[in-house]
Amino acid sequence: METKTDIIIVGAGPVALFTVFEAGLLGLECVLIDNLDKVGGQCSELYPGKPIYDIPGVPYQTAQEHVNALLEQIKPFKHEIHLNQRVNSLEEIADEEISSWKVTTSEKNVFIAKSLFIAAGAGSFEPRRPPNIENPDQFLDEGVSYSVKDKNKYKNKDLIIFGGGDSALDWTVELADITNSLRLVHRRDAFRGVPNTEAQMRELVETGQVDLKTPFVIEKLIFDQKITGVSIKNFETKEIENLDCDEILFLFGLNKKLGPIVDWNLELSDKKISVDTENYQTSSKGIFAVGDINDYPGKLDLILCGFHETTLAVQEAYRRSHPGEKVPFAYTTSNTKLQRKLGVSD
Ligand SMILES: Cc1cc2nc3c(=O)[nH]c(=O)nc-3n(C[C@H](O)[C@H](O)[C@H](O)COP(=O)(O)OP(=O)(O)OC[C@H]3O[C@@H](n4cnc5c(N)ncnc54)[C@H](O)[C@@H]3O)c2cc1C
Repeated sequence: METKTDIIIVGAGPVALFTVFEAGLLGLECVLIDNLDKVGGQCSELYPGKPIYDIPGVPYQTAQEHVNALLEQIKPFKHEIHLNQRVNSLEEIADEEISSWKVTTSEKNVFIAKSLFIAAGAGSFEPRRPPNIENPDQFLDEGVSYSVKDKNKYKNKDLIIFGGGDSALDWTVELADITNSLRLVHRRDAFRGVPNTEAQMRELVETGQVDLKTPFVIEKLIFDQKITGVSIKNFETKEIENLDCDEILFLFGLNKKLGPIVDWNLELSDKKISVDTENYQTSSKGIFAVGDINDYPGKLDLILCGFHETTLAVQEAYRRSHPGEKVPFAYTTSNTKLQRKLGVSD
């Protein structure tokens, strides 16, 4: 698939989402690509239930409520969101006047635009692999997963979940109803997740819907054409136990990796991308870095700073898409086009 647009955005965190709004005001279309299975970046992945107090004019909002509000705000504007894929490679399509940028994702999708916005936060979130298992990725689609993309996959299956954080607890509670059997394996009998979810999980253990195995760690996978079970080792007694299963979910949390971005020949400063604060352009024309991924004197990793940065960057993106034209400026209070889209009038 090859898609042309005005702005390609690497990432779908809060700053990427607000970019769609600012670009939309100028009539520019955006494509967002994120490695995760959901939008919202750190807000949705790391702290959805925590309150944020420093969004201007919003005294209190949980991180997920903030992401939901941003999604609502960008509804009027044309954009596409492509999840579950990492932007891997970048290529310049040279032009005498204004070059374009072509990116290819891990799903082999190709996007071309005059402007590329890197809103990649601290890098792409990569699932932590299980320890002791050599090349566990070879078993993906054979019974091993690192995230839940479609919960129906686990309907009437014998499922084993490994992990002790929010994700492991949330999915244990959510999938217990639809699986044939569900075991939760963790290396100690203490969990790092929200206490309320842990309490729900323990209730399911009491009622026999979940079999809790602690203190156990993964020893090896049992494979016969596909995964048919696992061996687990008791952390204290060192005894090995074999468990049958159809599916395994390793929910050991996420690592942040700058990943392929380091190979894009952009000027870096301490693992972040250096930008010119006039328009948040990087050392390559047409490539902008906004939000937590960039660096400049005085930089703060705050959502509101990312919003300011991307607002200015979008002005330059407009000039690239409409060379020679003046960037239109209108307050949203008097932007009748926007008000018509929203179905409101002043
Ligand atoms: C616990 C916690 C509390 C916080 N509290 C506050 C607060 O109160 N107020 C505040 O202003 N800020 C707070 N922050 C910081 C705030 O969350 C960040 O500033 C904000 O998320 C940055 O947004 P972003 O869009 O730049 O990047 P992110 O939210 O990090 O999103 C970047 C996205 O890019 C994706 N990505 C990266 N590389 C690739 C690639 N190659 N291909 C595809 N996708 C890629 C990642 O998967 C990720 O989803 C907090 C952070 C944490 C961890």
